[in-house]
Amino acid sequence: MREKKKLPLAFWIFIGLLVGITAGLLLMRAQPFGMQGADFAKQYIQPFGTIFLNLLKFIVVPIVVCSITVGVISMEDIRRVGAIGSKTIIYYMCTTAFAVTLALLLSSVAKDLFVVLDTSSAVYEPGEAQNIMDTLVNIFPANFIQPLANASMLQVIVIALFLGFGILLAKEKGVLAGQVVESFNEVFLKIMDFIIKLSPIGVACLICPVVAENGPKLLTNLIMVLAVTYAGYILHMVVVYSITVKTLAGISPIRFFKEMLPAILMAFSSASSVGTLPFTLESSERLGARREIAGFVLPLGCTINMDGTAIYQGVCVVFIAACYGMDLTFGQMITIILTATLASIGTAGVPGAGLVMLAMVLESVGLPVAGIGLIVGIDRIFDMGRTVVNITGDASCAVIVSRLDEKKNNACQATA
Ligand code: ASP
Repeated sequence: MREKKKLPLAFWIFIGLLVGITAGLLLMRAQPFGMQGADFAKQYIQPFGTIFLNLLKFIVVPIVVCSITVGVISMEDIRRVGAIGSKTIIYYMCTTAFAVTLALLLSSVAKDLFVVLDTSSAVYEPGEAQNIMDTLVNIFPANFIQPLANASMLQVIVIALFLGFGILLAKEKGVLAGQVVESFNEVFLKIMDFIIKLSPIGVACLICPVVAENGPKLLTNLIMVLAVTYAGYILHMVVVYSITVKTLAGISPIRFFKEMLPAILMAFSSASSVGTLPFTLESSERLGARREIAGFVLPLGCTINMDGTAIYQGVCVVFIAACYGMDLTFGQMITIILTATLASIGTAGVPGAGLVMLAMVLESVGLPVAGIGLIVGIDRIFDMGRTVVNITGDASCAVIVSRLDEKKNNACQATA
């Protein structure tokens, strides 16, 4: 008997996305059970999306702890971890700086297309932004359990690294601990596979309320700002990541984006890099990234690498400056590039995090933070795209660092 060919998960997630968007569009006008469609979607459909996102978040911390610890143990060398870490950070910083620069250039050219808005009624209460020293201090946990409970990614990474180092240094006495972590790693990966299978339904339930609520908002004066930001997202993904994965990892860009599709669709619907992490891990492994490297590079990327957020900030700063009748000088643009690149460290990969960072960037060049009030209403629409860019950048780094590490190992073996 001929076996039926199974359609790939990406196909079903795509169908889920289409179903969710269609239902959202219908609910924009409908009034089911006498309620506004958007309220209905929020009350009765969103909770199922939230359940799915919660399941993903619940599995993320154990996966990160186990995969990093197992990664360190299998590398057998603390120096190798350092080499991988430094390559990762250099790649992340360079691509983020490039992303803001691209956004500033693009929006300066397209500035005349923006509809300048009246700023007199714009209000925005900035949340509490961290300074760079606080971020540094906060990387190191004061407690073993709390970072795991709060899913503070940078601290979780530090805990897992120490655990791995400890097991290596304990030699024979650490072998059992290593085997326990390895065994749990396999168990958690199986749970993750199961949760990922639910994604077509999860994605539909996540996107439907977003469309029902934000659809009408698309028809605003901000449409050009959105269009320029999305042009920046697409340009950065297509140009930068295609070039880097091709030249540094030898992967064809078409294959790269094809394998990334489930993660991209998930990021678009959830606007959360952390929630998308299980998908990014799977896609990167299919692209040849080694598990121990992807398990370290991707969770780190979720927190410190935000190319999409940087593009969004670049465009929004130029737009807000135009609304306040200000032209940015060359010096201010350099300040924006530096602040946006540094600000991306330590900001969580959760929905809306980019807004807090935008406040920091505006302040750095003396623009009123209240300007954020002009765009806050459609932040979710910006956020969906920037999260896609953020996770694609993380995955490109995982495959590149994996490839570079492999090359280095081969060269070492050849000379040995
Ligand atoms: N939502 C984005 C992410 O999870 C962060 C942001 O708000 O820019 O990557």
